[in-house]
Amino acid sequence: MTGEPMRDDERPPETPAMRRTSRALRRRAAFIDRDGTIIVDKHYLKDPAQVELIPHAANAIRVFNYALAPVIVVSNQSGIARGLFSEADYRAQRARIEDLLEERGAFVDDYYHCPHHPDVHGPCECRKPGIALFEQAIVEHQIDAAGSFFIGDKLRDVLPAKSYGARGFLVPSPETTPDDVEAALAQGFEIASSLTDAAARALGIPHLPEE
Ligand SMILES: [Mg+2]
Ligand SMILES: [Zn+2]
Repeated sequence: MTGEPMRDDERPPETPAMRRTSRALRRRAAFIDRDGTIIVDKHYLKDPAQVELIPHAANAIRVFNYALAPVIVVSNQSGIARGLFSEADYRAQRARIEDLLEERGAFVDDYYHCPHHPDVHGPCECRKPGIALFEQAIVEHQIDAAGSFFIGDKLRDVLPAKSYGARGFLVPSPETTPDDVEAALAQGFEIASSLTDAAARALGIPHLPEE
């Protein structure tokens, strides 16, 4: 054998034990929406000083942290495409969220966002319910997609769960429409009363403290 990389078709066949091992090494993640789920939806938030955590957000994220489930924030940020705020504004908001969570002993493992809007750029693969950002995170964080949790206040946040046979939790916010709740229920998603409730049900922890 030389040091040449093997071509795909020359790879030895994967045994069931190898498959089990590689799955076991992957971690289930919590894919969580940002606006209306972790922070109050201020509609095209620009100023990081306006970032306000939703009650339960830090608590729920800390629960996932303790469970060693990577917390991955995936959000649509079409305000960037619309010129309402910039990538630099988005990064400043993110830094503010990180500070607020850190003060409460919680952290997000990684953030992904779609800066596009169909009216400006045409359709893209990364705007939820598209799964391009989830696909990227799954590779970059070695995530067990089927065992992961998809959480947010809109139907489009939980729909990607369908692609992986995973569980989705709709956590209604003031922005959630009755149609989204009805469609989520009809499609077998769960409705949680808060992010803590979603975390408790996802991880199978009854009577999780809410502070
Ligand atoms: Mg949202
Ligand atoms: Zn996009």
